[in-house]
Amino acid sequence: MHKAWAWMPRPACTSASPRRAVTTLGLRWRKKVSSAAPAHLRWLSMLPIARRKTTPSSSPRAAKAMRVVYSEAMTAPPQGGSPSAGKPGPVVAAWRAAWPALQVRPPVPVTVEQLCRAHDRDYVEDVLALRRPNGFGTLNAEVAASLRYTNGALLTAARWALQDGGAVAAPVSGFHHVCWARGGGFCTFNGLMVAALALRADAPGLQVGILDYDYHYGDGTEDILRRVGRTGITHVTAGADWHRGADASAFLDAIPEHLATLAHCDLVLFQAGADPHIEDPLGGFLTTTELQRRDELVFQGLRARGTPVAWDLAGGYQKPLAKVVDIHVGTMRASVG
Ligand SMILES: [Zn+2]
Repeated sequence: MHKAWAWMPRPACTSASPRRAVTTLGLRWRKKVSSAAPAHLRWLSMLPIARRKTTPSSSPRAAKAMRVVYSEAMTAPPQGGSPSAGKPGPVVAAWRAAWPALQVRPPVPVTVEQLCRAHDRDYVEDVLALRRPNGFGTLNAEVAASLRYTNGALLTAARWALQDGGAVAAPVSGFHHVCWARGGGFCTFNGLMVAALALRADAPGLQVGILDYDYHYGDGTEDILRRVGRTGITHVTAGADWHRGADASAFLDAIPEHLATLAHCDLVLFQAGADPHIEDPLGGFLTTTELQRRDELVFQGLRARGTPVAWDLAGGYQKPLAKVVDIHVGTMRASVG
């Protein structure tokens, strides 16, 4: 743990040593879905089509589309020393300025039941009712009101990606440090696990990959996986192995290996953290060019395999916020190829 990270609030589940996540291989999944299926399940009928998209040219529309899940309900005032709660609005504004044809769809908020697949029910209900602090360490009604939408944004993006292929962005943060029953590290509900478990509840054979390239170790995700089991979910967290001073070129060279670990997955949830930037006060070993290369390698690699991807912003703490927004603009540029 480096000094800058040491001051951040940490969840209770951080005692376990970082370790490389276990790959869980499963049977390929097949399921027929009625055309009368509810709207939120219609992506199921599209999945076999998505799997046939094994070359980039087979889905040019999906590859070029700039798709975002966003509404103002996802944004709350920044607090607790982190800009994350307030990032969705400025990031989407920057994306819209760069790409006026951006396709924007509002998030379907997750239910309390969906949150409780990844978290202790008392924790979920206490946080939403302001009886317990959120992951920023505050009791804030606007943050509480945004949480079902921020978590829903990644799930909505995942379903959109599964249905149409390609990459879909959810401009949200604050997921990977929250454990089964305790938030912290600016994370309140683990949207990665909430999305993975919701998708697998709809389609138990679905294989979901979590590629966490935030600077910090995804300890909360690991804690929840230990609790609920790893079946159908493969977790790769760069923070387990790559720290300040690490060899940037070695990290970039390792990305194909990470992607190979996720080759069996029907969908990847990609945490495109901005805090691995070398000037980030809480992170830092990649230059702007290297961070851009990280994203290009990820999206090119997933596109080559025909793997749909839903991605989120994760951390980023440089000031002014425009420096962080610029990194997220770079990730969007990489996502559309
Ligand atoms: Zn981080």
